[in-house]
Amino acid sequence: MLVFPLRPVPPPRPEDGVTVVQARSGDHGTVLVIGPTAHIAMSCGVCGRVLTTGVVPGQLHAMVLRCNGCGSFNHPEAVPGVDD
Ligand SMILES: [Zn+2]
Repeated sequence: MLVFPLRPVPPPRPEDGVTVVQARSGDHGTVLVIGPTAHIAMSCGVCGRVLTTGVVPGQLHAMVLRCNGCGSFNHPEAVPGVDD
C-alpha cells in the first residue's frame, strides 16, 4: 500500500469554491473517500490517519478533506511528486 501524506491547509473560505468532505456526525471512522485504485491511500498531513483509499490525488478535484481524527483540513491536489 502506498500512502501519500496530504498537505494541511487552512479552513477553506466560501469564496475558495472548494467542497469540504468530512465524516458524518457519529461516524468515528477516518476514511472519507473510497475508490477503485488498488494499493494507494492518502493520509492526514497532521496526524497520519488514513482519509482515502483507492483514490489517486488528481481524482479529488477542488475538494478539501477534513480529518475526522484531528479536525485539520487537507488538500489532495497538493501531494508533491504525484500530480506533476
Ligand atoms: Zn488528522
